[in-house]
Amino acid sequence: MYDAIVIGAGPAGLQAALTLGRMHRSTLLLDSGEYRNGTVLHMHNMIGADGMPPSELRATARAELAEYDDVEIRDAAATSVSGVEGAFVVGVSDGTVVEGRRVILATGVADDLPDVPGLHDLWGTFAFSCPFCDGHEHAGRDIAIIGAAPRAEHLIGLLGRIAGNITVAPVGEEFADDEIRTLEAKGAQVRRTPVTSVEKVDGGVRVHTDTDESVVDGVFISAGEMRQRSPFAAQLGLGMLDSGCIEIDEFGRTSRPGVFAAGDLAHRATLPGPMASVLLAAAAGQLAAVGIIQSLLAAEH
Ligand SMILES: Cc1cc2nc3c(=O)[nH]c(=O)nc-3n(C[C@H](O)[C@H](O)[C@H](O)COP(=O)(O)OP(=O)(O)OC[C@H]3O[C@@H](n4cnc5c(N)ncnc54)[C@H](O)[C@@H]3O)c2cc1C
Repeated sequence: MYDAIVIGAGPAGLQAALTLGRMHRSTLLLDSGEYRNGTVLHMHNMIGADGMPPSELRATARAELAEYDDVEIRDAAATSVSGVEGAFVVGVSDGTVVEGRRVILATGVADDLPDVPGLHDLWGTFAFSCPFCDGHEHAGRDIAIIGAAPRAEHLIGLLGRIAGNITVAPVGEEFADDEIRTLEAKGAQVRRTPVTSVEKVDGGVRVHTDTDESVVDGVFISAGEMRQRSPFAAQLGLGMLDSGCIEIDEFGRTSRPGVFAAGDLAHRATLPGPMASVLLAAAAGQLAAVGIIQSLLAAEH
């Protein structure tokens, strides 16, 4: 019986395991190897690690965790989670079944990209969604924003002061006249017809529409959705928010006693969505670990 089973070893789960290990709480950390920023070469907006490859952060964190006898890491997926506070049962893809007094879900979210041929191949290297993460690297450079007009407008607001020329093109359906006027008023060059494909070429990304093509340094998407990467929130019947994320309190507590959540998959109801960043995921992991330690102490006295 572990004190805690942490499912997911991105920044949220790694930090949660570190905090639990430092407090000598027996912890199992499970990792299926599917990281949201798995294709990213350099992460940004993280003090002390700005520009570091995410793979290096994960490797460093694992090396640090290896120093803690109470933390066991398994490169295996959780396949099911059931049970109650004090006695959770987790099925593991290596065929074992493990038990834990508390569980942290840190399985992150997956991005469903808009259906544009070529986009998956560029995701994380030449195609992005987050100006805070990847905007500065396009300072003074030409970019395309592809997708829906309202989110494109928001992205122009954020990227307009950073990037060079901004071209906006729709995905799926043509832009309406009023959308074109609004986007042009923000200073963007607007294509009416939808993007048909994107491809990496020398010097950047070629963006094709039915009527023309242009080469830009990078693409930001203003379409697509994110979803829970694992089925455990639904399996456990956790309270969810309109964003599709698990509702948590300040210490990562979900609606189900003993189940905690941290990282992109969860946020407090006072936020419109997850503040998706490595730093904040790690911070949430630490808070959830503290929440678990508090609740174990309360149960032990
Ligand atoms: C293209 C892109 C670029 C980004 N760039 C930046 C950036 O520059 N700076 C920044 O701060 N943020 C960046 N982000 C956001 C950042 O990647 C996330 O905020 C962060 O990774 C969230 O951490 P997490 O621990 O919640 O989830 P993740 O990092 O997604 O980790 C989820 C973990 O859960 C595991 N998992 C999933 N299902 C199971 C299962 N069934 N069993 C066991 N393990 C499971 C996965 O293997 C993984 O270990 C970027 C995101 C994207 C998409």
